[in-house]
Amino acid sequence: MPGYELIGEEEKKAVLEVFDKGGVLYRYGLNDKRQNIFRVDEFEKKIAAKVGAKHALMVCNGTAALKLCLWAAGVRAGDEVITQSFTFIATVEAILELGARPVICEIDRSLNMDPQDLERLITPKTRAIVPVHMGGVAAKMDEIQAIAARRAVPVVEDSAQALGASYKGRPLGTLGLAGVYSLDIGKVITTGEGGVVITNDECTYLKCREYSDHGHEQNPSRPRGEDTRTRWGFNYKATELQGAVGLAQLGKMDFILDKQRTHKRRIKDQLARIPGLEFREIPNPEGDAGDTLIFFVESRERASAMAKRMAALGVGTKNLPDAIDWHYAGTWAHVFRGDPEYGGKDLEKFWSRSTGYLRRAIALPILVQMTEERIDQVVAAVKEAASQAVAPV
Ligand SMILES: *Cc1c(COP(=O)(O)O)cnc(C)c1O
Repeated sequence: MPGYELIGEEEKKAVLEVFDKGGVLYRYGLNDKRQNIFRVDEFEKKIAAKVGAKHALMVCNGTAALKLCLWAAGVRAGDEVITQSFTFIATVEAILELGARPVICEIDRSLNMDPQDLERLITPKTRAIVPVHMGGVAAKMDEIQAIAARRAVPVVEDSAQALGASYKGRPLGTLGLAGVYSLDIGKVITTGEGGVVITNDECTYLKCREYSDHGHEQNPSRPRGEDTRTRWGFNYKATELQGAVGLAQLGKMDFILDKQRTHKRRIKDQLARIPGLEFREIPNPEGDAGDTLIFFVESRERASAMAKRMAALGVGTKNLPDAIDWHYAGTWAHVFRGDPEYGGKDLEKFWSRSTGYLRRAIALPILVQMTEERIDQVVAAVKEAASQAVAPV
């Protein structure tokens, strides 16, 4: 996950340089003052090159990036957008912000979108499909894209947690019409807040850019104050400080991924010897970003008892089970209250397969700066927690 672990001199220097060379914190214009410093532009070029995509648009956060992609994909009020039950609530918020209806797909043992359930949920109102690559692990994209193509529905990848991860050699975020990366504090690289739209489709890129900038078309033959426009948008622009920090973090990305993957492999190899743990399915292990390790235990009671014991031993979990309320649609009665199908239902029962996986899951954060000692400590804590008796209910 953890660009945040490596925030240091490089990021500080990058920010100070913006101040030292003109001090323009705004990404557009002021050309006489800014000494040709355009850090957001540079960041966009570098991240696009890094994942082999034609266009990147840096915006204020990943949630806004998702909303932009969905809008560009044609999602409007009254449409349906299918996403998965296990995600950060932001995915559903982006859909709701457009006045569309989030339709929730069950997950399978990979903890990502279950292609079979997806097929069942598509209706004539479905305007987009949003698979989420949770914890840097790819969804089953071949199956999902085949279904989407058959029904001519665009795929927008929520790859907020999956920068640097891939599926069969292709970087996540670049497989569908568009994808997003988040640069918030918990993601692979971070600018505190920040987001990226990634796409190979120029029209989608331009629509996102316009909407993110009050409808500015950035007509090259006009000064900004007289720019052309055909529609209104909103303001989701990133600042030069985000761009500068993003560039410094991007320089550390390969190191981050390498460390995470190495640490995850070590921890997983040792946990594999503990009876009673079953790992999450990983459809394309080579492409795993490696920042999260998730396993299932036999019951909800055991999962919560284990997490408690691990915490007492100084080993925390990552979202499961500690922050499941922000990551599982089954706990979002406040979102679905007025929904024609989900309103008033016992949501955990409604998405019973998802509940069956998520309530038995424990997620470990994999950190860049883990020492051998720390890795041993994590493994020992899981082992001890797994060996305690859990009272049957
Ligand atoms: C973090 C995250 C987002 C939102 O990103 P922000 O930059 O925090 O707005 C969206 N979806 C998922 C799956 C995330 O983890």
